Amino acid sequence: MSGKQGQQIIHCPKCGENKVSMMPIALIIFLSGGCFVWIPILGWIVAPILFLIAIIMWVIPTGKVFMRCESCKHGFSVPKSEYKQYKEAIK
Ligand SMILES: [Zn+2]
Repeated sequence: MSGKQGQQIIHCPKCGENKVSMMPIALIIFLSGGCFVWIPILGWIVAPILFLIAIIMWVIPTGKVFMRCESCKHGFSVPKSEYKQYKEAIK
């Protein structure tokens, strides 16, 4: 078994496709914070808040993993235990 296809554990709740990928949400927030740094005043207020959220999300495990459907681009979250099974399935 290879790639993201064929796994039967995580399905998109919207279209039922099993072609899903993990979204590193903390990393996305961190990177968008990096973009805000370049916007004067507003960005200088927003960027530290985003960095803080990213760090909090990084250190405190939420027990959820954010996934995105590759077919309909629908974002959803799954329990971490389910994500572990998914990782095993796509090995
Ligand atoms: Zn979908």
